[in-house]
Amino acid sequence: MIGYSGATSNPSNNHGARRECDSPDLVVLHYTAMETDQEALERLCSSDHEVSAHYLISASGEIFQLVAEDRRAWHAGLSYWAGQRDVNSRSIGIELDNNGSAPFPYPQSRALVALCQDILQRWSIPTWRVVAHSDIAIGRKIDPGPIFDWYGLAKENIGIWPALGQVALGTDEAQFLEDAAIYGYETTLGLKLVLSAFRLHFRPMAQGPLDPIDCALAHGLIDYLPLTRLTEPLNRRERGELDGRGP
Ligand SMILES: [Zn+2]
Repeated sequence: MIGYSGATSNPSNNHGARRECDSPDLVVLHYTAMETDQEALERLCSSDHEVSAHYLISASGEIFQLVAEDRRAWHAGLSYWAGQRDVNSRSIGIELDNNGSAPFPYPQSRALVALCQDILQRWSIPTWRVVAHSDIAIGRKIDPGPIFDWYGLAKENIGIWPALGQVALGTDEAQFLEDAAIYGYETTLGLKLVLSAFRLHFRPMAQGPLDPIDCALAHGLIDYLPLTRLTEPLNRRERGELDGRGP
């Protein structure tokens, strides 16, 4: 099975061929919302449930590989990121054994770092393309949730963490949405949903209406994106002018 050499093989049949994409260029992180890794493994490998992921990391840090990385695992569901709706075809999905409220144990976090670094390097995936299920399924999913340590992960060059540079610019809703769209969010869903997804990832304690800190953080993301993402106008599909949904 193409994948991480440090993983224990635990194959799932819940996968298919990648569509219009030969190699993954995105990593999506999840939590299982279940009490044990065994319960999650059973579900992710059962043909009764049409769900899977490429990897599951137990609370103790053991990495199980369920689906080969060159195959399309079924983890994202209805989703969108940076112009693409068939996120499953482009991504590698990693589930963290976590019930949705417990802290993520250190051995699990270390295993996640090692796995992500290996994946990013082998597939030449840029670090900004490591995202949450909650980022790509706005209004539908909240995992890996508000206590997941995105800042710690970014310090390991996995995902990005914006610098708080431009608070003085104030609150500018149009600019916030433009910056969020350039990063990858589906901003046609409107400010309320985009702001709550953004805060879940970058500012989980924040409440209330859009404020200068949200705007500064969103603008700070731009510094980490490749020039092509900034200079090419968003295409029609990204503006939501095309209905890219489909089976
Ligand atoms: Zn998920």
